[in-house]
Order: sequence, then C-alpha cells, then structure tokens
Amino acid sequence: MKFRQIPPKTPNNPANAVMDNEYQAFEMTGASDLRDLIIKIKADYPNFTFKTGRKFAFRYPKTITIGPSEPFDSLLLLHEVSHALLGHRDYSRDIDRVKMESEAWEKAKELANHYGVEIDENLVQDELDTYREWLHQKSRCPKCGLTRFQTPDSKYHCPRCENFA
Ligand SMILES: [Zn+2]
Ligand SMILES: [Zn+2]
Repeated sequence: MKFRQIPPKTPNNPANAVMDNEYQAFEMTGASDLRDLIIKIKADYPNFTFKTGRKFAFRYPKTITIGPSEPFDSLLLLHEVSHALLGHRDYSRDIDRVKMESEAWEKAKELANHYGVEIDENLVQDELDTYREWLHQKSRCPKCGLTRFQTPDSKYHCPRCENFA
C-alpha cells in the first residue's frame, strides 16, 4: 500500500465536500486511492452526496454509498456513480434492472479510463452474472419450472400455468 499525505482541510480543498465520518474512515483504512477518487468525483459533480455504508450502493437521484475498502473499491464506486449519471431510478420489470446494471458497467468503464482506474473484466462479469442469475431465479415458474414473463405492473405470468396460447 502506498503512503500518501492526506491533504489539509482548507476551505478551498474539495476534500471538505467529503463528509467528516468518511474522511476519518479513509484515514483509518488507508484507502487513499479511493479517497482521492472521491475528491475528484466530488470536484466534477458537486451535487453528488456521499455516505458510508456496508456496501457500495446508489440511491436516486445523487446519493452514493461507499462500502468498505476492498481491492476493486474504486471500480465499484465508479459503477454507482454511473447509475447516478445515467439517471437510473426505479424499474417495473426485473429485466430492466439487469439492463440498467449492464448500462452502468459500460459507463463505469468510460469513467475508469477517464480517472485512470484499472478495469477488471472478471469483476464486471461476476457482478452482471449475479443479476442474470437473480433474474433467472425470479422468472422461473414455481409450479412448472417454465420461464415466466413479467408485465409492466411487475407481475410474473407463466405461459403454461395461465393458459396463454
Ligand atoms: Zn449497479
Ligand atoms: Zn408454470
């Protein structure tokens, strides 16, 4: 792990935009690359709100939760930022959620190039697989095992059990 000097909290330092508890958290974990990235993102998107939590997450419209320090934390952060930039809100069908995840990863790769963050394609595919598997499980008809379809009212329908032609 590289040692970097923590920038002083002067009035013009964008680090001020990072909330105090986060600032301390990064000092403790020594996640300086992540903290530097947050400072850059804060400077580029001043209307974003950052908070810390158990895992990386996004809440519409502009709240990013920063999870614990881990090998790909910078990439995970860029993924959540991408949801915010793409204006992702809610979804009525689960397949739309999978589409949003895929779009957010495409955007995250762009941002990774921009901010000089290394892209790990295995991580991206693992994350997407998790959603694909989730969709697969939810779509499966519990009675007959056939793949059901979901209507915009978010209800699932089985073509066999509901006697669709
Ligand atoms: Zn996501
Ligand atoms: Zn069925």
